[in-house]
Amino acid sequence: MSLIVQKFGGTSVADCEKIVAAARKAIRAQREGHQVVMVVSAMGKNTDVLVDLAQQVSDNPPAREMDMLLSTGEQVSVALMAMAIDALGSKAVSLTGAQIGIRTDSTHTKARIRSIETSRVKELLDEGNIVIAAGFQGIDENYNITTLGRGGSDTTAVALAAVLDADACEIYTDVDGVYTTDPRVLPEARRVPQIAYDEMLELASLGAGVMHSRSIEFAKKFGVPIHVRSSFTDIPGTLIVQDPESKTRPVSGAAITKNEARITLEGIPDEPGVSLELFRRIAAKAISVDMIVQNISSDGKANISFTVPKNELKVTLDAVKQAAELLRPENVTYDEHVSKVSVVGLQMANVPGVADKMFRVLSSEGINIQAISTSEIKISVLVAQSDAQKALQIVHNGFELDVTPEDSPLEVSAVRVRDVTDPAVVVQRLREMEDLAIDDIQLDRSQALLAVRRVPDRPGIAAQIFEAVASKGINIDVIIQNVGRDGSANVSFTCPASDYEKAYAALEEVVQEMGDGEVQGNREAAKLSVSGIGLRSHTGVGVRMFKALSSAGINVDLLSTSEVRVNVIVDEHEGEPGLKALEEAFKDVLIDT
Ligand code: ADP
Ligand code: ASP
Ligand code: MG
Repeated sequence: MSLIVQKFGGTSVADCEKIVAAARKAIRAQREGHQVVMVVSAMGKNTDVLVDLAQQVSDNPPAREMDMLLSTGEQVSVALMAMAIDALGSKAVSLTGAQIGIRTDSTHTKARIRSIETSRVKELLDEGNIVIAAGFQGIDENYNITTLGRGGSDTTAVALAAVLDADACEIYTDVDGVYTTDPRVLPEARRVPQIAYDEMLELASLGAGVMHSRSIEFAKKFGVPIHVRSSFTDIPGTLIVQDPESKTRPVSGAAITKNEARITLEGIPDEPGVSLELFRRIAAKAISVDMIVQNISSDGKANISFTVPKNELKVTLDAVKQAAELLRPENVTYDEHVSKVSVVGLQMANVPGVADKMFRVLSSEGINIQAISTSEIKISVLVAQSDAQKALQIVHNGFELDVTPEDSPLEVSAVRVRDVTDPAVVVQRLREMEDLAIDDIQLDRSQALLAVRRVPDRPGIAAQIFEAVASKGINIDVIIQNVGRDGSANVSFTCPASDYEKAYAALEEVVQEMGDGEVQGNREAAKLSVSGIGLRSHTGVGVRMFKALSSAGINVDLLSTSEVRVNVIVDEHEGEPGLKALEEAFKDVLIDT
């Protein structure tokens, strides 16, 4: 018998009428011959109401008690859902996370799933019940209630679909699928019939709130196809699967994180271990850092900038303060009025000129880019919050995301059999379900690193630099631009070593045109890459890398991160020892594929 997991988000169960409508969907699926597991979120904005209550009682509520409180929202809705199904004449049983046996670690308010019991759910299904699971919650080894982080019901649903070997996982929500960007922010956004796991993972982690990014980690790891669709209509929505919508389009979607904060440590020692000291303290607070930018040093000093979600600025600054006692920066600055605009696409790496196109469209509207960070499948820029909406719009238009690609599958079939890699094998190899999974560590010794230092920090600079390099037919890999200081910016990138001289010459020309700046380069650089699942959401990954490299005495020149890959650029002669150090550091989470 086939099994379907149906998840209903907050707006889909916002009032009793909607609860009954959701109940009917589940009953209909059961009558069509499926076993049905429902995963339900708290009603409407109930979780926000609970957060607000906590804040009225305390400025700093203990995380354990927060989870005790927040988990009640879902308990209300699962009970009502079971009553609604019963009233409609079908059998249903509601269960909390603890009653199912969703075991998590003890990171309150951001807990990760360790394992899920399936026996009780299976028994209840076999007895003809619709099983209604409370989303977003679990229990730790000491029976404390935990929650998985805001939006975590998606993760409950996909994780249940994975362990129950479900045939389909349907996410019912208040939009009729995944769009090229949030349709509430940009009305011209287009619904896509299909999107690849890696793209959705990246988009979700860069701000597309439609799916909890960790749910996509599960989906990818266990081969669960997800169908995102509207609770209010029956039309098919979007399938999240292995393959993208189009095999030719370089960009599939855009995302915005409106509320980011940028922190910069100026004038710290440029030596192995420095990043480790900083990011280890931040990771200890389970904060995920993005857009880490470190300058090539002059006078033996370095600047490091990075971004965190604005609501984590305060905690991050506490951690920075601790690190500062050791690193003694000349200055620490931050800006909490910045936004991150990103584009994502699996084909990006195979199509040249994507980055310079993005910089060009932004500069054509006079938008200043404060920082850049790229990886194989995404480009992120940091802009002033007041420019963010416009930046998103022109980037979306610039890449014609509103136009359906010619090779789009156009529509999805409602249910599809899962495209499984043998999940049992994967599970066996992972100590814990949500553990980090590394599938590859690579060394590429044919890289060169180039930088333009002290260029004027004004709109159009990045476009000018990368157009000059692209016009020479040079394929650029990782790009990093740091925050302007003293009215200047630094731009670094890597390219094949065989193009080094050409790139250097192109940069010297640009610097002349700009009237300021200085070109620096290292023809003998190497790129070390760690690929896998959950590299950004697992806050300890960067720390593991920094630790391994710094204990081998290796200095990191440049770093770029995405959900599926972390790259570091080091000196070429440090490539081999770096590779060995990383292989050793990740050997416990390395899976064979
Ligand atoms: P639920 O309560 O059902 O979990 P969410 O509010 O978490 O719903 O997610 C749905 C919302 O996600 C939509 O209303 C939409 O505004 C937002 N969203 C952000 N990015 C996207 C996107 N790329 N495609 C569709 N919706 C998006
Ligand atoms: N109710 C929780 C929240 O609002 C979980 C969820 O809806 O996914 O974040
Ligand atoms: Mg949600």
